[in-house]
Amino acid sequence: MKFKQNNLNFKLLKYFSLFTAIILIGLWLIQIVFISSFFEQMKSDEIEKAAKEITESYGTANFELNIEKLSFKNALLVMVFSDSGILVYSSDGHGRSQMSPPKDQFLYGRETGVDLVDLMERLSQNGGKQVAFTQEQNGMGKSAILFSKMGTSPNEAYLYMRSPIQPVDSTVEVLKRQLVYVTILSLALGIIVSIFISRRLSAPITKLTESAKELAKGNYDVTFENGDYYEIDELAAALNYATNELSNVNELRRDLIANISHDLRTPLTMVKAYGEMIRDISGDNPQKRNAHLKIIIDEADRLAALVNDLLDLSKIETGNLEIGKEVFNISKTADAIISRMTPLRNDEGYIINTEIAENLYVNADKLKIEQVIYNLAANAVNYTGDDKKVSIRLIDKGNAVRFEAQDTGVGIPKKELANIWDRYYKVKETHKRAVAGTGIGLSIVKGILNAHHANFGVKSKPGKGSMFWFELDKAPNPALALPKSPEA
Ligand code: ADP
Repeated sequence: MKFKQNNLNFKLLKYFSLFTAIILIGLWLIQIVFISSFFEQMKSDEIEKAAKEITESYGTANFELNIEKLSFKNALLVMVFSDSGILVYSSDGHGRSQMSPPKDQFLYGRETGVDLVDLMERLSQNGGKQVAFTQEQNGMGKSAILFSKMGTSPNEAYLYMRSPIQPVDSTVEVLKRQLVYVTILSLALGIIVSIFISRRLSAPITKLTESAKELAKGNYDVTFENGDYYEIDELAAALNYATNELSNVNELRRDLIANISHDLRTPLTMVKAYGEMIRDISGDNPQKRNAHLKIIIDEADRLAALVNDLLDLSKIETGNLEIGKEVFNISKTADAIISRMTPLRNDEGYIINTEIAENLYVNADKLKIEQVIYNLAANAVNYTGDDKKVSIRLIDKGNAVRFEAQDTGVGIPKKELANIWDRYYKVKETHKRAVAGTGIGLSIVKGILNAHHANFGVKSKPGKGSMFWFELDKAPNPALALPKSPEA
């Protein structure tokens, strides 16, 4: 695989390293740079907590035990002075305690190394209850010191606590060394994990890309394989769907070209044949010549109709279908279309039943609706059964006008019902007669009816026939409305 700066592997590696670096810098700051102040804060908190406990137990039986326990636990030096400055109790953090030897030896803490005078001053400056501070002690480093008053007069006593804030240098040394190991280890781990993850993430994507390239070359047999995770599965499913659709469209286009060429060639052959016939044979015979010319004109009309269909379809597909609405009598329109069809069809043995309610008006594009009616009626005739029966109905539904074209043909299988409205779509094997359809009639019907926001559909039972329908909002009869308007 070529190395690109913006590929997944590199990005993951970058972000993982960044993540590790941030964590490590954080650790470094906390453990090395701020450790002294952390330690100091910790010690002062500790000592204050211990002081609180000791103060609370002052005067109870637990007092001495408490001091011992706490001084041992926290490595504290604890001393208790009477209000006259005499050391009465001390514990040095090793759990050993002692009652004071001859009291006067410890007067004012002199021999204890505690400067009571300074402490009393600090205490009174701080409100007289408790004072805590850190102090550099000669040769002993920094200590946290707490001095507080316990009890009330005449049983007052003073608590002195000291805890060395140990020189943390040795600790820092240990931590530094550990941090170096941790740094190396976590960087290595970060790299390994990021490589692993990126492989997992990118491998299926790479596979999909390969398949997509195959598809681009026109190989519709490719399948997009699922990966390890949901998003890839979704993508694969979408691509498989797209491939399927593309392959269908491709097949349909191929069929369409075959059909259209056939549709174009037949009339052209006729035009040429009759043209030659007029030139060679019927040119001098007005009767025959006219008959032949009529065929030429009819075939030219068929050609023109086919070309118009194709133009309409391309307009629908590009969304450029223009609808020019007018109120017109759809009953008359339907009647005219069916009447034009009937004589021709009757000659071929078709029986076209019509039930057309009179004087129904709609506000729609007249030419386009004519096209819809013609297409649906022609389909019914083309696909009807051996009895050659077709029913055309126009029904007054109160608010709406409903058109129905029913045949007795083989019907349409359920799974094809949704597809027949698609462009170029033709149900395979339904044509009993040689119907040279192009598969664009219904997609034009759909485009026109959608542009009118009309409801439409098909009911079909395989073996029993189909019924195509659409409904348009009824418009008021303008002939009735007009005379009223001047009065209104
Ligand atoms: P075509 O020019 O092939 O008739 P259409 O778009 O009008 O194209 O119809 C699409 C397909 O729907 C037809 O090829 C046919 O398979 C099916 N179809 C349309 N109308 C009927 C019908 N009344 N009965 C059965 N099948 C029909």
